[in-house]
Amino acid sequence: METITRFAPSPTGYLHLGHAYSALINFEYARSVHGQFLLRIEDIDQGRCRPEYESAIYEDLAWLGLEWEQPVLRQSERMAIYEAQLAALQERGLVYRCFKTRKDIEQAMSAPHDSPTGAFRGEALAALEERDNLANGKPYAWRLSLTEAKAALGTTFSTLVYVEDTPGGLVDQPAEVERFGDVVLGRKDSGTSYHLSSVIDDATQGVTHVIRGEDLQEAAGLHALLYALFDLEPPIYRHHPLILGADEKRLAKRDQAATLRAMRDRGMSPDDLRAQLPDLAL
Ligand code: GLU
Repeated sequence: METITRFAPSPTGYLHLGHAYSALINFEYARSVHGQFLLRIEDIDQGRCRPEYESAIYEDLAWLGLEWEQPVLRQSERMAIYEAQLAALQERGLVYRCFKTRKDIEQAMSAPHDSPTGAFRGEALAALEERDNLANGKPYAWRLSLTEAKAALGTTFSTLVYVEDTPGGLVDQPAEVERFGDVVLGRKDSGTSYHLSSVIDDATQGVTHVIRGEDLQEAAGLHALLYALFDLEPPIYRHHPLILGADEKRLAKRDQAATLRAMRDRGMSPDDLRAQLPDLAL
């Protein structure tokens, strides 16, 4: 099977050294095994995404020497696909409408006996109450029901694992999905979510290796659950260390000095930049 990797930035700011590290590992790994490297623009959050940041992504990655397959998949053009997949989960009773506000959730969470893992769990409202809320135009999100997911997958739920590519080789990691509670798969504002669209796209694009920062390590468990519910073959995951700034904190898009364009403006070459990065450990 051909190896397919991807780099999937959100155009909500300029790319920094941490993005360069992630993109380079994906690119060089695919190249080392004669596979494909994809670039995906994760722009479902239209309130925070900007076209100038998207153009900067193409420019910065090209400057770095990366090449990617065409056409580039842009999530904002695939909203109908995510909606259809969410509708399929609705039909199977795996998601429910949640009308709760952030404050309602906080209050529910302050009664921890309801949730041993400290994560929110809820359920669909009674039909009449739901109808009233809908008639009143009350906004809602679609949440994955862990209870229903468990029923749908039966015994495989507790044995759900994902495969992590570690320095010591491939390891089965327990998905530990209980810790997530009932996550939002369809947000009130966008109708989809990072988790839903990312899993659907990785599956649609045939991504075989998801390589990304270790801040998303836990999310892999939830993604494994979604793959199982969609009855899809999950990719192999690798979560690399995050690049830290001088203050030992992880880089964020607001750290202007670490953006690729700021480094380029300071006269750095792509090779200078690569020299600042840890080993790609391919
Ligand atoms: N758009 C996500 C981010 O920028 C990508 C996460 C992923 O690689 O799965 O953090």
